Amino acid sequence: MKKNNKNQFRFVKSPPILSKSRQDIFFLQKQTYGLFSTILNSNLLIKGMLYEMKRVCGKPNCKCAKSSYRHTSWYLTKSEKGKPEVYYVKEADLSRLIKLTVEYKKFRQSRQRIVEIYREIINLINRIEKIKTMSFMGGKKNVKEANK
Ligand SMILES: [Zn+2]
Repeated sequence: MKKNNKNQFRFVKSPPILSKSRQDIFFLQKQTYGLFSTILNSNLLIKGMLYEMKRVCGKPNCKCAKSSYRHTSWYLTKSEKGKPEVYYVKEADLSRLIKLTVEYKKFRQSRQRIVEIYREIINLINRIEKIKTMSFMGGKKNVKEANK
């Protein structure tokens, strides 16, 4: 009887070319360090965007009625459950609010980037799985026969 020397372990796809995927994963993982540090070291946050509005006050003797001068008001706008909300900002609160809304923005951007990076890493892991997975091509037997 002729002995079957054929290799029964086969790659489903191509042989492993893994170094690129491996490099990409380490590179992406490295990028998250700074993002995590932004998240973990972040200060207090305030959700919302500040905007400035120029307006006339309506008083007939005010300089805004007689010249191109306009009063400046600041507002904070944010969306809560899809509904926009607008808040008037007092002059005294403005500089602190600027700081806290910038913190919020940085926090959210870092969070978003982490989500993207992890999505890319999962894609790479799936690719590695496809490359590494072999199929076993041993002689086929049906279950009945195997049970005899
Ligand atoms: Zn005025």
